Amino acid sequence: MFTAVLRCGTVLRYETRNLRPRPGDVVPCLRHGYCVVRPASPAAPRSVPSTRPPRADNWTRARPRTQEEFLDWLQVREEASLCALRRRGFTLRLVTAAERDGLVNVDLLAGRVAVRPVDIATPDDVPRDQAAAPPLSR
Ligand SMILES: [Zn+2]
Repeated sequence: MFTAVLRCGTVLRYETRNLRPRPGDVVPCLRHGYCVVRPASPAAPRSVPSTRPPRADNWTRARPRTQEEFLDWLQVREEASLCALRRRGFTLRLVTAAERDGLVNVDLLAGRVAVRPVDIATPDDVPRDQAAAPPLSR
């Protein structure tokens, strides 16, 4: 839908772009007979202040997912694509935090996230560098 705003504020709607008059054109107006089309300004039609009351934050946004939910979900599948995670509401921030904590392996090039295999050795026996699993092979 294309619109043209007249100098008097009347908004005219057009099905196609080429039917819409250009700014400065004089067109028939329901209230005044003829009026001049206002220069297109992006703010003009939307500048009407919103009368809607501000919404509570939890109404507009879904509750952020927790790392526990993320790990539970991923554990069942062992591996998932970043796209699938995003669709489930798991944010990249959540994924990278889990990676930083050594809970998952993230292959950004392949876009895959996998549960980090649990080492047999206890963390106390192995230096932290060696305890980390090697990056996912592609
Ligand atoms: Zn008018």
